[in-house]
This record gives sequence, structure tokens and C-alpha cells, in this order.
Amino acid sequence: MRGLFQVPLLNDEPLTSLIARLARANGAPTSRKFCLHMGLDMSALNRGDDREVGKLAGLARYIHEDLIASAIRVDEDRGATIGDSYFSKQMLRRSRLRFCPHCILDDDIDERFVPGARRHARTYWMFPQIATCLTHSRKLVEIEDTRFDRHRGDFITQLDIVQDHMPMFVEQSTVSPVFTFERYVHDRLSNNKRHGAFLELDQPRCRYRRVRTVGHCRKLWSRSEPALKKRQRFGACPRRRIPFPLEGF
Ligand SMILES: [Zn+2]
Repeated sequence: MRGLFQVPLLNDEPLTSLIARLARANGAPTSRKFCLHMGLDMSALNRGDDREVGKLAGLARYIHEDLIASAIRVDEDRGATIGDSYFSKQMLRRSRLRFCPHCILDDDIDERFVPGARRHARTYWMFPQIATCLTHSRKLVEIEDTRFDRHRGDFITQLDIVQDHMPMFVEQSTVSPVFTFERYVHDRLSNNKRHGAFLELDQPRCRYRRVRTVGHCRKLWSRSEPALKKRQRFGACPRRRIPFPLEGF
């Protein structure tokens, strides 16, 4: 497989998904077979190993730093660094397939890319705290299947495995509001850091924990406002009276 056909990098896409598209665009049926043929270590690529990512960059003529920016760099605790932010193991769902079926339907008719190499993952889909697609305001679908084990990180093959159920997934992906916290995580992953001093003071790990708490408070507030007002009249539940910042998001 000489002279690889290159596929464009996408802003919201993790490296593993790019590899899946690259494989298909170059005639390989799966990422696994593509990596075998190219002499690449797929497990190392899945954990964002710098050396292996550099090897891929050289083979497919990408800029090494561009690929590293989209890599999920996993550490020995199975936490991961994405861009300049660190996320613990509990914050991510790397082993499950999470996606918006409506985005996939859009991908399928996206003529910018060659057929078979159009479907791609969005990095924020791997965060269990995010339940909604930010493009379609529809619930994300989450699937666990042992057949994925041989195809870790291969988004296109995993979707192929469950393709027969796609109409059901579309139906399950009902309209759902997008919360501020969900947009915040997406913006951070897109390297948009214009979120005010409140969120820029700390190290990434602390900052993420803080905004996660704030986002959770906001959800509690929006869901329980009538009950909260009733409690406030009686001076109860002081914990829930903690104000949350509306600025800085
Ligand atoms: Zn969507």
C-alpha cells in the first residue's frame, strides 16, 4: 500500500477515527488490517503513543503535531490527555460506542469525502457526562458489544457491526436539550478557551472538575426549580442555594 491516499483532518475528530477513515480510503476493510499492512501498532496508536503517531504521520504525510493534537494520550492509570486537558478514567467512555445517529446519517451523504470513509467520531461523544448531540440536540446512543473488542478505536467497523440496528438507534435518539456544561466541554476540546477568568485560573484537571460540579448544579437547578422555591420559603436545603456563576462559560 504505497502512496497513501490522505484524508483531511477534522476539528472534532479523535485520531482513532481518522485512522479508521484513512484505512477505508485506502482500501483496507478495518483499521486493524490497515495497521498490520503498514507495520503500525494499533494498540499504541489507540493510546496516543508519540512515537507510533509520528510513524503514522510520516507514512501518511501528516504533520506530527497535528496528529498528536487529536490523539487520546492514555496514561498508566487509564486516564487520558486530550489537547492540554487531563481526564480521569471515570470521565471517559473509551470502550463503548457512543454516537449521534443523526450525525452518522449526515456523514453518509457528505460528498466532501469518499464513500466508505465518511463516518467519523466526535471527540466529545466519549464523555459520559454529555448526553446530547450539540449539532442536532438529540440524545447520544451508547452501545457495549464484545464484538468491538477486536476493533478498539475503529469507529467505522464498530458502526458496521451494529448497522442492522441503525433505524432503531435513530428512533431512540430523541430530542433533548443541550446544557451549558456540555457546550463547555465541547469548546474546551475544540481549544476554545474564552471562558473567563473563573475557569482559567487552575490547572486543566482542577478546572474540569470545577466546571463539572458547576454544570451538575445547573442541571439540578433547572430540574428542581419549583421544589427549590418551595424549600427556600421554609429556609430549608441551604446546600442547593449555592449560586452558580452564569458568566465565564
Ligand atoms: Zn448529531
